[in-house]
Amino acid sequence: MSTILDGKALAASIRGKIREEAARLPRRPGIAVLLVGEDPASELYVKNKAKDCVECGFLSQLFDFPDTVSEEELLGTVSKLNADPAIDGVLVQLPLPACMSERRIIEAIAPEKDVDAFHPLNVGRMVHGDSLLWPCTPSGIAVMLDSYAIPVDGKICVMVGRSDIVGKPMGLLLLRRHGTVIYCHRHTPDLAAMTRQADILIVAAGRQGLIRADMVKPGAAVVDVAMNRDPVTGKFTGDVCFDEVKDIASFITPVPGGVGPMTRAMLMQNVLTLAKRHMGLLPGA
Ligand code: ADP
Repeated sequence: MSTILDGKALAASIRGKIREEAARLPRRPGIAVLLVGEDPASELYVKNKAKDCVECGFLSQLFDFPDTVSEEELLGTVSKLNADPAIDGVLVQLPLPACMSERRIIEAIAPEKDVDAFHPLNVGRMVHGDSLLWPCTPSGIAVMLDSYAIPVDGKICVMVGRSDIVGKPMGLLLLRRHGTVIYCHRHTPDLAAMTRQADILIVAAGRQGLIRADMVKPGAAVVDVAMNRDPVTGKFTGDVCFDEVKDIASFITPVPGGVGPMTRAMLMQNVLTLAKRHMGLLPGA
């Protein structure tokens, strides 16, 4: 039986520390969130972010646009927020409607207010290994590994999924911590042969039931990023068959209650970091 990585409890304790630190700053850290359209999942994420901001004592502003909004109007709002001294972080809730260029909007955010670390300048800094911020899901996973004293240095780390938001930066973060990183994706011919090598297995493919017990090395740490809606029960499940893998892994994240709450906590951490930098309390631009 493995240790369950309790992201929910860890995230609550991190939020408590962020709140204490924020209260000592000369002004409240501030985040602006831009939401376009009426995607129910995005609306829920945005609601949760606002709740977390209240708990951490942050200022949060929501800009809620209909899906008929023009790219120019969005860009105008981003530009105003870039210049607003009360706002430390600007977040554009993805996905945007298909007719819009996500790249164009993300690239309009001032790199020093890019709280998700999606701007190409910040992605470049990640590749160099000297980024001040990392995207929330990978950094939440790294904090979780640290807090359960799971070493990365010298370990074989298999990342299933190579998205810009999760897989790619996660691999870079593990590399920075001296892991030997293998990326798997849709074109990987024998996924099981790769995953069976993993000391640390991180899965972000969005395929319910993808990782079975016989694909996991005994004693591995298994992190499940996915949130799939089970078509039968309607409940959220990950990509890992939790019930069978928990008897083989030494550590495993639950879904929900593992990576999700850590991702939210890291957004608050990133806002705090940007705010401290804007207040001259951290080095950097
Ligand atoms: P997320 O934003 O959670 O990372 P995406 O849908 O953007 O999710 O990316 C899914 C990733 O999972 C892609 O990189 C894709 O190649 C990978 N993937 C999907 N199905 C499989 C599979 N059966 N085996 C291995 N990788 C897969």
